[in-house]
Amino acid sequence: MGLCNCGCGGQTREGNQYISGHNRRGVTVSNIMRERNRASHLGKGLGSDNSFYGQHHTQETRQTQREANLGRTPWNKEIPLTKKHITHISMGRRGIPYRK
Ligand SMILES: [Zn+2]
Repeated sequence: MGLCNCGCGGQTREGNQYISGHNRRGVTVSNIMRERNRASHLGKGLGSDNSFYGQHHTQETRQTQREANLGRTPWNKEIPLTKKHITHISMGRRGIPYRK
């Protein structure tokens, strides 16, 4: 057990330098790399390519997940939408009739 190398101050698992997911924290990804990564993942994991394709969660699993998330605060709670975001939603809904 040691401290996480990212500087978060958290405890790592035995023999690990980072807490899982902290190894790329704060790394700026260039637009070129971002685009390359996007292109390489495009359309993958969809439909029959998805490892969970054709399967369904059992009622028991669904209940477990429900209980795990009860009382959790949504990440976007009380974060107001930006003007740009509102415009994007508005543009995306053009031509779609309003339903109650
Ligand atoms: Zn960390």
